[in-house]
Amino acid sequence: MGAIVAIVGRPNVGKSTFFNRLIQRREAIVDAVSGVTRDRHYGKSDWNGKEFSVIDTGGYVLGSDDIFEQQIDKQVELAIDEADAILFMVDVEAGITGMDEDVAKLLRRVKKPVFLVVNKVDNAKRAADAVEFYALGLGDYFTISSINGSGTGELLDALVQEL
Ligand code: GDP
Ligand code: MG
Repeated sequence: MGAIVAIVGRPNVGKSTFFNRLIQRREAIVDAVSGVTRDRHYGKSDWNGKEFSVIDTGGYVLGSDDIFEQQIDKQVELAIDEADAILFMVDVEAGITGMDEDVAKLLRRVKKPVFLVVNKVDNAKRAADAVEFYALGLGDYFTISSINGSGTGELLDALVQEL
């Protein structure tokens, strides 16, 4: 089946936008059988000739991103178990939120590769704003724009090296 990469993070940071960019025209498989906290989208992607599966975590059963913090933590824990590498996405427009800190706390204990991905870095000014995310205690980060694609090549180069 190949390596599994999970995209985690609080609602509205751009997880699904990045997921859709990664899987492009390929179809997402929706796994809704086991309830809200297990509900996620799976897709296939490849980079530099390396194939991998991608999990987009989110509250699909409810049909909205208005899910409880507890459910996000549960999804992160499931992703940690299931994935070979984790993309933790945050949003430079919003800055660090309490929910980001909760997820970071879970991820700091993880032995698998964790990539801190600062999304919505659509221009150079926003790249400078991203420095605040060092405070999450996860080390260095990648800045990307899921909408215009900038930075995604560097992130994927680093990701597939770990798979
Ligand atoms: P999710 O809840 O984490 O899956 O987030 P979505 O992918 O649904 O995106 C939430 C909102 O952020 C949408 O309005 C997206 O269009 C917007 N968004 C996602 N990526 C970017 C980005 O790179 N730049 C900007 N400016 N907006 C983005
Ligand atoms: Mg989503």
